[in-house]
Amino acid sequence: MSEKTIFQKIIDREIPAPLVYEDDLVAAFNDINPQAPVHVLIVPKKVISRVGEAMAGDQATLGALLLAAGKIAEKLGVSDRGKGFRLVINHGRDAGETVPHMHVHLLAGRSLNWPPG
Ligand code: 5GP
Repeated sequence: MSEKTIFQKIIDREIPAPLVYEDDLVAAFNDINPQAPVHVLIVPKKVISRVGEAMAGDQATLGALLLAAGKIAEKLGVSDRGKGFRLVINHGRDAGETVPHMHVHLLAGRSLNWPPG
């Protein structure tokens, strides 16, 4: 069996990180190197290496990630349109992917530039 990803170890409670949110399919915790006042990583419990490698059978998990994002944003008080948040999924080198366990970045708490860098 291949070695666990850092995110699997967090989900399995082998590495301590307070969970911001958890349900049957996903868990969420704060990024160790935040790029905004709010920077949460939403991670599927099932390892999908990157979004472009998800399979048809992963549909419920992919949906759960976005539903969780909405709930977390609401919980953290950034879902109001007067504030707002951004979701980012990095796939591969050019996008800046560093952890090969798919995750959604939820960024908020400051004005975010568009287009992104
Ligand atoms: P990627 O670049 O793959 O889209 O995002 C990986 C993210 O994981 C980065 O923002 C990085 O700061 C975060 N990260 C890496 N290692 C850890 C860790 O051990 N704990 C937490 N909470 N975040 C991590």
